[in-house]
Amino acid sequence: MSGYERELEHFMDGLRKLNPHEDEFHQAVEEVASSVMPWYLQHEDFRKAQILERLTEPDRIVIFRVSWETDHGEIRANRAWRVQFNHSLGPYKGGMRFDPSVTQSTLKFLAFEQIFKNSLTGLPMGGAKGGSNFNPKGKSEREVMRFCQSLMTELHRHIGEDVDVPAGDIGVGAREISYLFGQYMRLENRWSGVLTGKGLASGGSAIRTEATGYGCVYFCEHVLNEHGEGLEGKLVSISGSGNVALYAAQKAMIKRAKVVTMSDSAGFVWIPAGMQQEHWEFLKDLKENRRGRIGEMADRFDGVDYYDGKKPWHVECDVAMPCATQNELDGEDAKALVGHGVLAVCEGANMPTTREAAEVFRKHGVLHVPGKASNAGGVAVSGLEQSQNAMRVSWSREKVDHRLQAIMTEIHDRCVEFGKRNGRVNYMDGANLAGFEKVAKAMLAYGVV
Ligand code: GLU
Repeated sequence: MSGYERELEHFMDGLRKLNPHEDEFHQAVEEVASSVMPWYLQHEDFRKAQILERLTEPDRIVIFRVSWETDHGEIRANRAWRVQFNHSLGPYKGGMRFDPSVTQSTLKFLAFEQIFKNSLTGLPMGGAKGGSNFNPKGKSEREVMRFCQSLMTELHRHIGEDVDVPAGDIGVGAREISYLFGQYMRLENRWSGVLTGKGLASGGSAIRTEATGYGCVYFCEHVLNEHGEGLEGKLVSISGSGNVALYAAQKAMIKRAKVVTMSDSAGFVWIPAGMQQEHWEFLKDLKENRRGRIGEMADRFDGVDYYDGKKPWHVECDVAMPCATQNELDGEDAKALVGHGVLAVCEGANMPTTREAAEVFRKHGVLHVPGKASNAGGVAVSGLEQSQNAMRVSWSREKVDHRLQAIMTEIHDRCVEFGKRNGRVNYMDGANLAGFEKVAKAMLAYGVV
C-alpha cells in the first residue's frame, strides 16, 4: 500500500465511522477523495486546516415532518430534509427529490456532489440538496399540491434568494416547483428568485427544462473531439425517459447521432435503426402527459423492441449516457459495454455508475465523465435563472443556450487542465480536482469557520 492509499483508507475509515449506514454518501466521498488525496497530501496548508475533513461535514441538515391529507381525508406523514452542505462559493443551491427511496444518505451524497458540480460551472453557487420520501406516483393533482404546500410551510424559513435556492430533481418538475413557489409567496408576501425551474410565466428561464440533457450532449461532443472522434453517426445508448434522458436524446438526434435505447424502471426499448422524431414525440407525451410505461413504444412502432426488466447496457453502442438514477450501471453492465467497444460514458444522472463499474471503465481506458461535469448544465441554467430574476429580465432561448454551451465548454477545459495525462483526459480526476480546488481555496481564505 502506498502512502496515498494508506491516508485514503484512514480517512475513509473515519468517515464511515462518523456516518454509519450511509453507503451512497461514502461512495460519493470516496470518489472525490481518491482523486484529490495526492494533491491534498502535497499541500500542507490545506491539510493543517483540515479542509477535506471539514468539507465532508455538512454545514447543517434540517429534518422535518410533512403532514398532509389525502383526497379521502386520510392523514399522512412524510419525512423531508434540506441538506445545506457548503456555501463557500455562494448561496446554497441544489434540487429537491421526491421519491420513496430517498434517505438522508441519498441527500447527503447528492448535496456533496452538488458542491463540486456547482463549483465547476464557475457560477457563485454553494452545494445543497433536499427532498422527501413522498411518492408522487399515483397521487392526485390536489394531493401533490397539499403535500408541496405543507412542505414549504416549514422549508420557507430556511431558504431565500441569498441563502438557499432549491430547484427540481427526480419527482419534482415545474408542477411541484409552482406549488412550492405559490406557498412561499403566500407565507412571505414577496416575489423573489428563491426557487429555480419555475414555469416561463412565473419567472423561469428559457431552456431550463432542456438544459441538463442538452448540456450532457454538448459535453460529450467535446470529449469525443478532444480524442479525435465526433458524435455524428455514433450509436448512443441512453437510459431513463425523464427530462434529462428526453432532451439528451433530442440533442443527440440533432447532432446526427443514432439514439438506440431509452428506458424506464420497468425495462428498456431498443431501436437499432436509431430514434426518429415521431418516436421521441410519442415518448415525451407518454411520460409527461399519460404517465405510461415505455413498453407501449414497441406496441406502437415497428422496429422498436421492448425488453422487460432489463437494462440497456448490453446492446452495441459507442457512447453510453446513463440518465436515470444513482448506481443504475454496475460492474457487469460496464463489462458488457467494454465488450462492445464503448468509447465514452457521459453521466446525465448523479453517480449512476457503481464503484465496480467505474473501476472497469478506468482499467479499460474508457472516457468516463462523472455527472458533476457532464450533467452540470441543469444547475448552470438555474444559476442563469437566478441572475435573470435578480435583474428582473428574461433572456431569449438563443442567449441562454449560448451561455449554456459556453459553460459546458469551460467545464470541459477545466477537466482537461486538471486531468490530462499522456494525451488522454481522466475526466474523473479532472472534474474532482478542478471542482475541489476552488472550494478548498475559498475555505482556506475564510479561516476557521
Ligand atoms: N437537481 C439538479 C442537479 O442535480 C438541478 C439542481 C438545480 O438546478 O439547483 O444538478
